[in-house]
Amino acid sequence: MIQIENINKSFGDNHVLKGISANFEPGKVSLIIGGSGSGKSTLLKCIVGLHHPEKGKVLFDQTDFTRMNFEERVPIRKEIGMLFQNSALFDSMTVEQNIMFSLDMFTDMSKSEKLDRANHCLEQVNLEGRNKLFPAELSGGMKKRVGIARAISMNPKYLFCDEPNSGLDPETSIVIDELVLKITQELKCTTVVVTHDMNSVMGIGEYILFLYKGQKFWEGSNKDMMRSDVEELNNFVFASP
Ligand code: ADP
Ligand code: MG
Repeated sequence: MIQIENINKSFGDNHVLKGISANFEPGKVSLIIGGSGSGKSTLLKCIVGLHHPEKGKVLFDQTDFTRMNFEERVPIRKEIGMLFQNSALFDSMTVEQNIMFSLDMFTDMSKSEKLDRANHCLEQVNLEGRNKLFPAELSGGMKKRVGIARAISMNPKYLFCDEPNSGLDPETSIVIDELVLKITQELKCTTVVVTHDMNSVMGIGEYILFLYKGQKFWEGSNKDMMRSDVEELNNFVFASP
């Protein structure tokens, strides 16, 4: 379980996050939604420690991550898998090398153990046998799947995805959503996905945190959302900041 409490983050005099609190539960996909510029990516980066909030706390299974120094954070960092907005694959590395990157950095696994692990991750994202391809040879949806395979290489307890559907057609988006949900249930990890895709919200949003201009505007499940005035909420998702 990840708990965030009163997260505040500014860039200069731009007060981007204004006291966000939420709980993200294990075995579920939690979604952060909101219009462009509402602070979604900034919040995700505050949670994983890429940004330092001026105020507030991030707790990973009761452990206060915010107050830790770089060294102290290492064990939690190893349990975090992250899919960045543009997949951010290493272009000069093959699919297999991309997936093994964290294993090379953080484990003392043998070469054959790492290859086994990479094969297993590729199976999980339905890309068996694509080991030797380079990112330039992959479609947008395949890049996202390799990004997910890389994010899960260390068997993460916490999985973060920033806009996993961006740039994908609606059918591929659904495939990615279902994959993220399946992996979350299999690994029983705590998954937080940033999206502005209303299909994802309705499909996999068991918990939705809705940001508007850096504040929590609404939270609930997709079922709760169906009972609310979706049109009105929708207008907020796509409203300019
Ligand atoms: P979203 O992901 O919801 O589109 P972001 O979190 O990327 O929104 O951005 C929220 C606000 O924070 C924007 O006004 C953006 O310009 C600002 N911002 C984001 N990252 C930085 C940064 N590294 N430096 C300065 N301003 C930033
Ligand atoms: Mg963003």
